[in-house]
Amino acid sequence: MAPRYECRSCGWSAPYGGPLGRCPRCGGPLDLVPLVPSPSGGGRGVWRYPGSLPPVGRPVTLGEGGTPLLRAERIGERIGLDRLLIKDETRNPTGSFVDRGSTVLVSAAREAGYGSLRTSAKGNVAASLAAYAAAAGMGISADVSGWSDYGKLYQLILFGADLTGEGAGGGAYEVRADDPLMSLGYSTAYLEVLEDLGRAPDWVVVPVGTGTLLWSLYRAAEAAGDVPRFLGVQARPCDPVARAFREGRDSPGPAGCGGATVAWDLAEPDPPRGAQALLAARESGGAVISVGEGEAIRWMAGLAEAEGILVEAASAVAVAGLAEAAADGTVGRGEEVVLVATGTGLKDPRAVSRVVAGLPRGGRAGRRGTKLRLLGMLAAGPRHPYGLWKSLRTEGIGLTKPAVYRHLRELEELGLVRSRVEGGRRLYSLTWRGELLLSDLGVQ
Ligand SMILES: [Zn+2]
Repeated sequence: MAPRYECRSCGWSAPYGGPLGRCPRCGGPLDLVPLVPSPSGGGRGVWRYPGSLPPVGRPVTLGEGGTPLLRAERIGERIGLDRLLIKDETRNPTGSFVDRGSTVLVSAAREAGYGSLRTSAKGNVAASLAAYAAAAGMGISADVSGWSDYGKLYQLILFGADLTGEGAGGGAYEVRADDPLMSLGYSTAYLEVLEDLGRAPDWVVVPVGTGTLLWSLYRAAEAAGDVPRFLGVQARPCDPVARAFREGRDSPGPAGCGGATVAWDLAEPDPPRGAQALLAARESGGAVISVGEGEAIRWMAGLAEAEGILVEAASAVAVAGLAEAAADGTVGRGEEVVLVATGTGLKDPRAVSRVVAGLPRGGRAGRRGTKLRLLGMLAAGPRHPYGLWKSLRTEGIGLTKPAVYRHLRELEELGLVRSRVEGGRRLYSLTWRGELLLSDLGVQ
């Protein structure tokens, strides 16, 4: 059956005739239908499911997809789950699930005669598109203004992307993060899970930024006629979808997302597929929740230590959310859970530094300096909060004592300091992570 574009917002529909980013009638996100859940292409990876994909003579592939579904007993035990599985998308060519979408989109764009791409998408999406554009011999121009993620920026530069956002010329295809061809590629991750398990798990857990991944996996499950519950997780500094879920709204609507977030890829103030992610979570009996960044950082380390899988902060957000959902009984101990590890931590070695250097923006000026200063003071050895408060005053940083306590609590939540009570007084010291951060930033 020939693929068609379909807009769930306004009902517009048309036969597939090449890449098309948004609904020409209402501007809403598009889907390509039908999604055919059975493999028919042989081999492994995304192109094993050609029934779902647009007709392409010669795909642009780097060997994406076909990732393992790993039993994660030790981290499961820490979280309180007996049957936790990790779909390890960090193994993809550029280190993220996005490669599944890029292979489909770039193949289709080349097939349709486009010589170059342009994207305003950020992070993993831009880095992955750049790799596939390179493999296809196509140009790509990306808008990196406001980027805070150097690992992904280096990827873009090495893949030969034009970073001005201008260089692709008039005939370039504009790729948004919610492009229906990208979405179609993402859907294959769920089809692989189905093939591996032979049935749907009880839960699928994913981080939520634009909402595209959650929606794409849900669509695949819907097409297969066996829908697990979906748990979407956002990071608290920017969680419009989770807020809309809590408040019973159908759509997140544009929201303020002040300051940087450690899970920068997820920080979407106006998520294009947010309404669809909400729909998927509700229809499946799941939820969208949000977690603190400190928890995410802790679980990033926990997952690496327990399972040997190093994920980036955005994926760690999902682990932290699952831990919360298991703790409050939303996810039962005996239920089978598939957690999607969306991207590798190797892209993101400065995630922790960004938390301290960039997080407390939008508040009082100078807070950033204060936290680093506190860490610097602790580098010399354990200190009491009162002593730290006095030392800050000596340096002309006149904070109240409760403000100093708050900074210390936040640093502790980030895993950068620890405290113990000694002789009735609380004593703070650096953790190894705090030491690592200071040396990473070159702060004494
Ligand atoms: Zn429409």
